[in-house]
Amino acid sequence: MTESEDIAEIRRAVAGLCADFPGEYWRDKDRERAYPTEFVTALTQAGFLAALIPHDYGGSGLKLDAAAVIMEEIQAAGCNGASAHAQMYIMNTLLKFGSEEQKRTYLPGIADGSLRLQAFGVSEPTSGTDTLSLRTVAVRDGDHYVVNGQKIWTSRAEHSDLMLLLARTTPADQAAKRTEGLSIFLVDMRQVVGNGMTIKPIRTMMNHSTTEVFFDDMRIPASALVGEEGKGFRYILSGMNAERVLIAAECVGDAKWFIQKATDYAKERKVFNRPIGQNQGVQFPIARCYAQMRAAELMVHHAAQAYDAGGNPGAEANMAKLLASEASWAAADMCVQTHGGFGFAEEYDIERKFREARLYTVAPISTNLILSYLAEHVLGLPRSY
Ligand SMILES: Cc1cc2nc3c(=O)[nH]c(=O)nc-3n(C[C@H](O)[C@H](O)[C@H](O)COP(=O)(O)OP(=O)(O)OC[C@H]3O[C@@H](n4cnc5c(N)ncnc54)[C@H](O)[C@@H]3O)c2cc1C
Repeated sequence: MTESEDIAEIRRAVAGLCADFPGEYWRDKDRERAYPTEFVTALTQAGFLAALIPHDYGGSGLKLDAAAVIMEEIQAAGCNGASAHAQMYIMNTLLKFGSEEQKRTYLPGIADGSLRLQAFGVSEPTSGTDTLSLRTVAVRDGDHYVVNGQKIWTSRAEHSDLMLLLARTTPADQAAKRTEGLSIFLVDMRQVVGNGMTIKPIRTMMNHSTTEVFFDDMRIPASALVGEEGKGFRYILSGMNAERVLIAAECVGDAKWFIQKATDYAKERKVFNRPIGQNQGVQFPIARCYAQMRAAELMVHHAAQAYDAGGNPGAEANMAKLLASEASWAAADMCVQTHGGFGFAEEYDIERKFREARLYTVAPISTNLILSYLAEHVLGLPRSY
């Protein structure tokens, strides 16, 4: 089979699975702010969440470009991949920088679904964008580290067995460089929840299972350290490019869903005895969103393929995330406008997807920070912060 046949097969398989989780399933979960356990279990059992895990550890050994297609199809089917996407994007940090022992210990369980790697603890109440000023500390004590501090927006922490945690191991004023002194830990949450780790859910405008996590003298084995102590920020940055590509692919999927919904509705809804889609005032915004989505889609695959070729395409991954999040948000707004009042009715699913799509120009990295990255690192403009 050629690569494109493989990809087409992945698209069909994901779409087939998603067909079992229609709008009413997501509406119920949204109303209750409940975690879509059945959907995540189905994705896991079908092997999709193990897409990036190499064959040797029980996964399917797919590349990032194929993983991006999985996430895109989930969103294009009206489902919500945010319930499970971290498993894919956290994976890259573990695969690239984890020890052989860590991989052997955790990856087979993650691949077969007996272990969930869904929580990524970076953001803190006083440091979101400014990661280097984070305050959570991990202090070495014999064969352990003792962790104190707090994370915020740690999504899916209640539905995960493992957390990738970024903490300071060398005080900022003693680190050799500004970007050093932070370390990554793979925390086995089963051993510390209620024993140094406390999780508190945060209710948000969409169903996202996000939380605050408190560390109070939390003891973790020294073997939880990923890679070298002090190099965590560099590891996180490398993993973040994969994360940005995957999130961007989700945004492309969302944009496709909104565009399809709007197109179908514009063909069938009659006002003044003709379909609203016959008016160019209705057609043009849909057509514009389609062009915007296609441009973003090209950048997503370009970035994914550069990553798969062994590069670390910061500019392309950031541009993919920027363009795709703006394309999905523009399409969300257009879809509401095309539906008029019905865009606000729960049963159409548009208002739910609209709320969900809003996140991605803010998280996991905001549009301003991407623009600032491009301005400084690609265009050579003066550093602004
Ligand atoms: C639902 C949800 C889920 C999330 N899940 C996770 C997760 O699982 N793990 C995790 O670690 N984090 C998570 N996050 C956190 C997310 O990554 C941060 O919200 C995001 O990075 C922005 O940080 P902040 O909210 O602290 O905003 P701030 O850093 O306070 O920024 C506020 C605004 O100011 C702008 N700004 C700040 N500095 C500058 C500057 N120098 N120039 C121009 N503009 C600037 C920003 O662009 C932003 O618009 C999640 C957030 C949400 C809302």
